[in-house]
Amino acid sequence: MSLDGKVALVTGGSRGIGAAVALRLAADGADVALTYRDNADAAAEVAEQVKAAGRRALVIRADSADAADCVRAVEETVAEFGRLDVLVNNAGVGVVAPIGEIALEDVDRVLAVNVRGPFLAAKAAASHLGEGGRLITIGSCVSDRVPGPGMSLYALSKTAMVGLTKALARELGGNGVTVNLVQPGPTDTDMNPADGPYAADQRALTALGRYGTAGEVAATVAFLAGDDSRYVTGTAVSVDGGHAA
Ligand code: NDP
Repeated sequence: MSLDGKVALVTGGSRGIGAAVALRLAADGADVALTYRDNADAAAEVAEQVKAAGRRALVIRADSADAADCVRAVEETVAEFGRLDVLVNNAGVGVVAPIGEIALEDVDRVLAVNVRGPFLAAKAAASHLGEGGRLITIGSCVSDRVPGPGMSLYALSKTAMVGLTKALARELGGNGVTVNLVQPGPTDTDMNPADGPYAADQRALTALGRYGTAGEVAATVAFLAGDDSRYVTGTAVSVDGGHAA
């Protein structure tokens, strides 16, 4: 399989897109470490499914808002598996509200989890990623198109990943490492359920007229993690049903 012998770390791998990514990378042959913050049972269930696929699994409680935790997750992965080939920065949070109603605590939390966390995890991972290494971040379709009001903080945080991706592609390319961004559109998860109060509006904004699944996002992450994507770097791949079209 394409990821045989590789080791992946997925942040926020207990639920939603991160869980689907963890399972897909395991199905493609990788051993997988995954972090979570609150849902230990869900994380353990994903790890059991990774093992059922015949791969090794490691569950790490690490809050992406905590700088030391971001570094520790990378170090524990390398200590357990002896290497790191793929980092998927997936953990993220959203606050949707008019800018005047966004509290300072929200600004700090969203930027800590969505921006500082991926930066620090990438920093910690950079020295471990060798030839064929992969750094993949889950951004958002709002970096291409903000569909309406209330998105200032979330769009700020996700658009920052465009710059991080391009800059790190330049910095790590010489080591044979590719760095890419996956930008999901409306995807059916706990964060954005397809039967939620804003689902109909989001569905209507896509060209395909439907929500995506976490597995559909994971399929693109798997492509970027594998060898077939070796000449793809510094770019964003939208998995958004045409939200940006
Ligand atoms: P969910 O809320 O369904 O799942 C979030 C996951 O991240 C959980 O595993 C959660 O762990 C973990 N997590 C949240 N905060 C932290 C933290 N501080 N530290 C460590 N882990 C954390 O989200 P989605 O799967 O929908 O989203 C995944 C990514 O995709 C996010 O970056 C999001 O912004 C992005 N995205 C999602 C879209 C969508 O429509 N769903 C659209 C565009 C982008 P725990 O189980 O412990 O809470």
